[in-house]
Amino acid sequence: MIPHWINGQRVLVAAGRHAEVFNPATGVATGRVPLASAAEAQAAVAVALAAWPAWRDTPALRRARVLFRFRELVERHREELARLITAEHGKTLGDAAGSIQRGLEVIEFACGIPQLLQGEASREVGTGIDCQSLREPLGVCAGITPFNFPAMVPLWMFPVAIACGNSFVLKPSERTPSCAVRLAELMGEAGLPPGVLNVLHGDREAVDELLCHPDVAAVSFVGSTPVARHVYAGCAQAGKRVQALGGAKNHLLVMPDADMAQAADALVAAAYGSAGERCMAISVAVAVGSAGDALRAALLPRIRALRLGPGTQADVDVGPLITAQHLERVRGYIAAGEAEGAELVVDGRIAAERQAALSGGYFLGPTLFDHASSAMRIWREEIFGPLLIIVRVATPADALALVNQHEFANGAAIYTRDGRLARECAARLDVGMVGINVPIPVPAAFFSFGGRRSSFFGDSNVHGVEGVRFYTQIKTITSRWPHGGDARDSKLDMPTL
Ligand code: NAD
Repeated sequence: MIPHWINGQRVLVAAGRHAEVFNPATGVATGRVPLASAAEAQAAVAVALAAWPAWRDTPALRRARVLFRFRELVERHREELARLITAEHGKTLGDAAGSIQRGLEVIEFACGIPQLLQGEASREVGTGIDCQSLREPLGVCAGITPFNFPAMVPLWMFPVAIACGNSFVLKPSERTPSCAVRLAELMGEAGLPPGVLNVLHGDREAVDELLCHPDVAAVSFVGSTPVARHVYAGCAQAGKRVQALGGAKNHLLVMPDADMAQAADALVAAAYGSAGERCMAISVAVAVGSAGDALRAALLPRIRALRLGPGTQADVDVGPLITAQHLERVRGYIAAGEAEGAELVVDGRIAAERQAALSGGYFLGPTLFDHASSAMRIWREEIFGPLLIIVRVATPADALALVNQHEFANGAAIYTRDGRLARECAARLDVGMVGINVPIPVPAAFFSFGGRRSSFFGDSNVHGVEGVRFYTQIKTITSRWPHGGDARDSKLDMPTL
């Protein structure tokens, strides 16, 4: 049984609704996770609200010291956390450890909170009058996270929120719930007072309560676009601050002058790493001009060399998908691509059958389509699996038009040796994050992460300075101290300084 983490304690709940958690590499159920009721969500918010005033009033330096200790604990427990991720998600241990490293970098960023919270001050904005502008925490913040990054995405949120002086209720994915509880335990070990960080498991019932609860000041969401829209609308309705990151379909533009070996290496890693279950995965290679044949030739041996298997096995490159239903959905896209007339160059169903016969589990091998087009579902829709398509276009302008007309706009990358063209593309790509000869342009933690169009709903991106802005509100204080000779403020005109 997987516990909630409420008020600094593991809380086991036997009654009520539960969901099973599976090991995707075997298809065997490994645990049961409670699905909180609305009343349990209210109780978690009440705990966070009660803990908030003392935490808000704790000096930022001391809050930062908790994060420094937390950082050391996450580092020390990195392998254990990676095993928890692989057991429930399926990605390889190396990939899981890499995602923890990206989360660690956000903790390191949040350790700088005393300086990040520094405000602005001016003396003598009027005679005898000073003005200062401060950033204050919001209160109770909630985070709702997806299955694919059980450590990294929660770490995008709660270290920054808590460093800013908020308390937090984290609702992790019910499919990969264990890592969040362990992270919260480590925060407790680092000295975080009980109730400042709570982990509440659940599904729509718990989420909907967090969206409308009057004591939740702000919601950070990462997940699929339909749910992101729902979260954004719910928060807007309730008048609360929200950042909702949705689905993605990321393109990598390959120009004819690109280093084809480098582009193919990048594509294989970005398309098939984590079995394609990354919001920054590349799922479309856009081959410009004569690049198509050379790119395809460079990709094929690399794809064929990839090893499919359980993420715990040292020589494995591609692990299983998250659930049996998701596997069926992704297989459906292979059938759709064939029916729509794309050329199926590598069929991942063949390797998958061999692997599933060995270990059970939800496997699909790396799959490649060539000659796909913007009319096809395999281009239009987010697949979230190990499926890469090549779309061939005539010119860089066609490539830009293709990316910019897509519903999703998280990121895009361009591979070229032409600096001027790369610069032009970076300026014209209408997406949140751009890589130039960099395949997965997830920004460093002190920059901010976020997409556009149906990949992002809200105003402030996550982590970096944008994250600090999201989790704080400004107060501006204008002050004057009594002085014997002051004129009295009895005039009713608009005051001027
Ligand atoms: P999901 O939308 O199914 O679930 C995300 C969270 O929302 C989970 O905590 C889940 O319990 C909750 N949820 C699910 N259905 C809900 C509903 N109807 N009402 C309220 N809450 C609900 O997403 P997922 O399958 O866990 O994750 C995969 C998706 O997340 C993909 O679309 C991927 O692109 C996206 N993602 C985006 C980013 C990004 O940065 N933009 C990062 C990671 C994942």
